Amino acid sequence: MTPELDTAIRQALAGKVIKPCEGCGHHQWDIVELVAAPVINIAPAVVYRDGSPASSIPMLLLACANCGLFRHYSAVRLGLIQPAVK
Ligand SMILES: [Zn+2]
Repeated sequence: MTPELDTAIRQALAGKVIKPCEGCGHHQWDIVELVAAPVINIAPAVVYRDGSPASSIPMLLLACANCGLFRHYSAVRLGLIQPAVK
């Protein structure tokens, strides 16, 4: 991960990741990576702007710094990735 991406992620998360870990109550989260989950069943809820089905969902993966519980956030909603337009 580049320093620029790390900074963009931290700025995107500011004020949004405020609840403690559901597993242990810890408040510190580590940035793991941007990941994409493949869409197995193409559903109408997962589409590009033009309505065509998407094949993956980009997400930011965080891990609790204490217990390692993972959280996924929408990379598009955080403004880290632009929605694809076909
Ligand atoms: Zn935890």
